[in-house]
Amino acid sequence: MSTVEGPWPLAPTQDSWTVGVDAVAPRSPWGGTAPSRLHAVGDAGLVAGRALCLAPVTLLDPALWAWPDDGDEESPLCWVCLALTC
Ligand SMILES: [Zn+2]
Repeated sequence: MSTVEGPWPLAPTQDSWTVGVDAVAPRSPWGGTAPSRLHAVGDAGLVAGRALCLAPVTLLDPALWAWPDDGDEESPLCWVCLALTC
């Protein structure tokens, strides 16, 4: 078994997810960009920069963002990630 140890002990449970946002904002037909969706990112996704739904994401500050509590009308949750974490 090979595990990568961080500078601090990692919680053995996967109850908390890192929040990511679409790396590429979808374009709106009315110009500008559509609201970016929030995604859940697991331990493996932290390295690859991929959400559970395999979308490329930019990680958000875990001190400021919590999955799935921070989803709202401006930042809707990715329903695939939501289904995989609930
Ligand atoms: Zn997702």
